[in-house]
Amino acid sequence: MGAILKLLLTVIVIAVAWYLIKFRGRIGPFKAAVKAAKKVAEDAQAAAAPTAKPDPQMPVKLVACPKCGTYVAQGKACACNG
Ligand SMILES: [Zn+2]
Repeated sequence: MGAILKLLLTVIVIAVAWYLIKFRGRIGPFKAAVKAAKKVAEDAQAAAAPTAKPDPQMPVKLVACPKCGTYVAQGKACACNG
């Protein structure tokens, strides 16, 4: 059993070494791809952040209450419950 495990380990080590040699030339482009993907994710996050919270400077449309005539923000109930 020990000899088989040693042989298996040797095969795994050779396979890993072969893969490292084969893909060493591709690490550069791979790193660039990871960097680009990270940038895309960061840009998406930055683009989504301002729209997630309401803009306090956004003008509110005022509408007159049909009951008392008080101008209240559209969609909000008047204090008179009209
Ligand atoms: Zn009212």
